[in-house]
Amino acid sequence: MNEKAEKLYTQLISDKGLPGNEERRSVLNENMENLLSRDINCFSCTGLCCTFVSNSMQTDPIQTLELYTFLNKNERWNEDLISDLNEVIRNNRLDYEIQTGLGSTFRRTYTCPFFNRGPKGCSIDPEWKPFGCLGFNARSPGASEGSDCTSDMELLERREDLYEEKEEISNNYLKEYLGLDWDKLPMPVALLRLDEKIKSL
Ligand code: SF4
Ligand code: SF4
Repeated sequence: MNEKAEKLYTQLISDKGLPGNEERRSVLNENMENLLSRDINCFSCTGLCCTFVSNSMQTDPIQTLELYTFLNKNERWNEDLISDLNEVIRNNRLDYEIQTGLGSTFRRTYTCPFFNRGPKGCSIDPEWKPFGCLGFNARSPGASEGSDCTSDMELLERREDLYEEKEEISNNYLKEYLGLDWDKLPMPVALLRLDEKIKSL
């Protein structure tokens, strides 16, 4: 376990009042359980939404710290993973931003480094996954390869409304404390930038 990361995360919960990772994902995970009970699942899909075909997931500092904490807890943060993250960044030019005007940037797609091919391909536990991943699901039984899948924006907004204030305080604290100059980045870039800052503490 990375003690500096663990201490920082504990600080967000105890000093900044941030509800824990599991609680802040509970509405999303309850929704997934509900879908499963109605036979709506991803079992017949290759996991297309986690590949370069449609994945452009980005994480803010808190979600990145949570993912980093999960990887460290499970002894998965190592040189092999760092090399994989760098390869994904290089192959998909994730560290190169394209401005699209009005202050927004083009979101590049990439195959997630935590994806193992096939159904149930994500190797991150649901309590630690990015919100956007949990909010993207099949909508009907038998859906596969994105045939009837979507981001449940209403549900994602409901989750955000519940925790927006506390998450903003914690994100701002992390940005200031670690000197982060970004709000959201593709997961591989966000993880490496966070690692660099945490190591220098
Ligand atoms: S959400 Fe859709 S595209 Fe993604 S794994 Fe499930 S069925 Fe496949
Ligand atoms: S974290 Fe998991 S669900 Fe999200 S893009 Fe990566 S493999 Fe897919």
